[in-house]
Amino acid sequence: MQATTGKCFVCGASLSKDEMKAHLLGCRGREQGDEPLFLIFVEDDYFPEIYWLALEIPRSATLADLDEYLRHIWVDCCGHYSQFTIGEAVYGRRPNPSPVELVLDEYAHVQPMDVPLEDVLTVGETVQYSYDEVWPSVLRVTPLAAYSGDVPAGGVRLLARNYKPFKPCRVCGKPAEWLYTDAWPQEAYCDEHARQHPAWEKPNAFLPFVNSPRVGLCVYRGPKDESLLFEVYPPDAEA
Ligand SMILES: [Zn+2]
Ligand SMILES: [Zn+2]
Ligand SMILES: [Zn+2]
Repeated sequence: MQATTGKCFVCGASLSKDEMKAHLLGCRGREQGDEPLFLIFVEDDYFPEIYWLALEIPRSATLADLDEYLRHIWVDCCGHYSQFTIGEAVYGRRPNPSPVELVLDEYAHVQPMDVPLEDVLTVGETVQYSYDEVWPSVLRVTPLAAYSGDVPAGGVRLLARNYKPFKPCRVCGKPAEWLYTDAWPQEAYCDEHARQHPAWEKPNAFLPFVNSPRVGLCVYRGPKDESLLFEVYPPDAEA
């Protein structure tokens, strides 16, 4: 897949990832508020040119708040373990821990995520986020700037995000809507040809081709909150 451009939700501009990083430093809110904020850029570790987004979050918010947002918008399939690795420290979170897991985490010196971002993040320094130990989705989290502005409604303000990458149906070349996950590499199909596939009825053999770095992994079907969906192709795409 080719590098994707993305959309600035502040002014509507469509830009490449590097252009967006520079653009947001000037285009961000410019509000009157005096809440200390971070402008944070998040990229997929495996496809950093394809899956990326930028958000604003209060510096007093915790790693758990950021984890919660990343889960909601991009990665949560069924409540796996997630962690931030910051220098030597690991901050982990299990929505439904077993007693054994809690003991193992303590043994591995995993710290809780109830730490303010301003205590652990530094502008310009990338930290690693990963979700799910078996089929990990790994992200790079980089604070690009620190400034003051309005408190984001709902705790996080999404500033920009990549457009949906184009993947052709392997039969007809139309934009894929499904991935057949029992094949490796996974096979992309349009809706019509997915439904004609002999394994169409098999549970979770087909997963929706959603705009997320977690696409095709575990049972990921996109954000449960529809306001976080962004299944939009770039405005200049011919598809
Ligand atoms: Zn803009
Ligand atoms: Zn899962
Ligand atoms: Zn097709």
